[in-house]
Amino acid sequence: MPVVYLPKEGDRREMYRELLALAKELREKYDIRFSRDAKDELEALYGIMKALYEITRMEWDEEHKASKKKRRKSKPLKKGIERTLLFVKPDGVRRGLVGEIISRIERAGLKIIGLKMVWLGEDWAKKHYPDEMAPKIGAKAKKAFLAQGKEFPWTEEEYGKAILEALRRYVTSAPIVAIAIQGPRAISKVRAMVGDTAPSKAAPGTIRGDFSCDDYEWADVQTRSIYNVVHASDSEGAERELKEMFSEDELYPDYTTLYEELLGEF
Ligand code: ADP
Repeated sequence: MPVVYLPKEGDRREMYRELLALAKELREKYDIRFSRDAKDELEALYGIMKALYEITRMEWDEEHKASKKKRRKSKPLKKGIERTLLFVKPDGVRRGLVGEIISRIERAGLKIIGLKMVWLGEDWAKKHYPDEMAPKIGAKAKKAFLAQGKEFPWTEEEYGKAILEALRRYVTSAPIVAIAIQGPRAISKVRAMVGDTAPSKAAPGTIRGDFSCDDYEWADVQTRSIYNVVHASDSEGAERELKEMFSEDELYPDYTTLYEELLGEF
């Protein structure tokens, strides 16, 4: 994009003369013809500006079409290759951990095929964390309580429901950063990199273990969801969750990482 420096003050007639000379040059360069001869210089300038606008628009359309063509429809995944979704939750974004997390994925050699920041809404949260998840979440919490020798005086369903509400408030409280990932056994690999749901239990070296110490009980005391920095799809949800977060156009699997040059393209 050329930068044009305008004179602070100048001889207007001189500027007008220069403008006409420029217009003449452009008219000849692009072979611009008027449907009828312009009556005066102003009409001629107007005509040239319009023609230039059309030329630029057409060039832009061409470029845009070409770049769309480049984005072919995704090929079927090779055997042993999976796609998954990881997103940095609001606590991770607010704590400035996005770069750190992306870097871990890159370091492991996994291929990032989509990336974006989104502020999720209530509808998304209800769809992603539906009431049907309540028993599963409740059961997991119960197991953790009992393992610590603590009482669990709720039903799994009611505990799960309360957690889900807190969880929806949490994921919609600030933007998230979504990352689409592709690679050999990517779903279980990323889940392993993420670690246990409760950061207090997550192994050092995992994302949750390294960047949080939150715990079920401590979160409960404050009636909030566990802040565990990231979400990662499991094998049941990966395909659907990825589709809900990224459109086909937003995924770029058709490039080759340098690591793929060693391992074979995935
Ligand atoms: P994960 O994210 O490890 O797959 P779940 O799918 O079971 O775990 O739960 C979804 C999210 O709900 C968790 O990541 C966590 O933020 C929150 N959560 C789950 N169980 C509890 C709980 N007992 N107390 C507070 N928050 C919870």
